[in-house]
Amino acid sequence: MTQQTPRPRASVAAIPAYVAGRPPTPRPGLTTYKLSSNENPYPPLPGVLDAAVEAAAVMNRYPDMGTTALYEALSARLGVPTDHLAAATGSVALIYQLLSAFCEPGDEVVHAWRSFEAYPIAITVAGATGVPVPLAAGGRHDLDAMAAAVTDRTRVVLVCTPNNPTGPAVTRAGLDAFLAAVPSHVVVVVDEAYVEFVRSADPVDGVATALAHPNVVVTRTFSKAYGLAGFRVGYAVAQPPLAAALRAVSLPFGVSHVAQAAAIASLAAEAELLERVDALVAERDRVLAGVRAAGWDAPDAEGNFVWLPAGDRALEVAAEAEELGITVRPFAGDGVRVSIGEPEGNDRALELARRTAP
Ligand SMILES: *Cc1c(COP(=O)(O)O)cnc(C)c1O
Repeated sequence: MTQQTPRPRASVAAIPAYVAGRPPTPRPGLTTYKLSSNENPYPPLPGVLDAAVEAAAVMNRYPDMGTTALYEALSARLGVPTDHLAAATGSVALIYQLLSAFCEPGDEVVHAWRSFEAYPIAITVAGATGVPVPLAAGGRHDLDAMAAAVTDRTRVVLVCTPNNPTGPAVTRAGLDAFLAAVPSHVVVVVDEAYVEFVRSADPVDGVATALAHPNVVVTRTFSKAYGLAGFRVGYAVAQPPLAAALRAVSLPFGVSHVAQAAAIASLAAEAELLERVDALVAERDRVLAGVRAAGWDAPDAEGNFVWLPAGDRALEVAAEAEELGITVRPFAGDGVRVSIGEPEGNDRALELARRTAP
């Protein structure tokens, strides 16, 4: 009898690898900075840390599976009923959940490219087929081309605003026109992981958009502006049927007690956290101006990162960054994403931009 080995679904072998931002190589005599994962460089606020430590004391118990207190805090903060919410282990998990809830094998998912590298992974995991639509000039979503890419097979469209890794945000007018063009049975995910950093003249109001459109899901995260990347907590806002579908496919007890407590404490400390965001935005604008002054044709930056369109020199620029004691995130053949970190790290990013200017 021939031995049979277990075989995962064919799509499993096709899952692209996630390339995580690397930590810096230690350099004797030089403080190094990790500018490769769009993390928040500030340490936790004392009150948030205290809440997490206190929550750790009951680690022998399962967390509240209904994330009740977090839903109540989010409901009060966002002005939406709790049945419009779904929390999960980061907003990436919500995107996985959305795709698993809505896609059958072979269904199409339209998204911009280059965009968030988790999208092709999540789409492949769901057994769906990705339909990448090239970015327009300036690293922007080409929403007209994305609407035109919707077919009978399309179940979901992913809109990343601001776009990771290039930086520009979609405008409210642009999104409204797009939603008018997309059939109402197609779910449109508006990934607002960096919404707190947006300073555009015509910003998207994700929550209002979700309240106005039964096919829109807005995803947000505590990982970036709120500095809880290590705790894994994000949330979605959508009308009750979509929110219920997201909750239905979630892993039971996914969001830990510590993460729930830290997220609630962060909402309570929001004013202080958003001051830090303002400081990061000021640093971002400083870095972007310097990068452009150095001769880079860098796109608008609405997140906590700046894009260097280095093309074929991406890996070279990243290697030069290592020499300067910073780690950035190269995308081979395309460009380099530089996260905004501590001012000294940002100064080195500017030095990098000058040294490698086109
Ligand atoms: C960082 C990021 C997320 C959020 O990640 P989580 O830590 O899983 O919440 C989602 N979308 C984009 C585009 C991101 O860059």
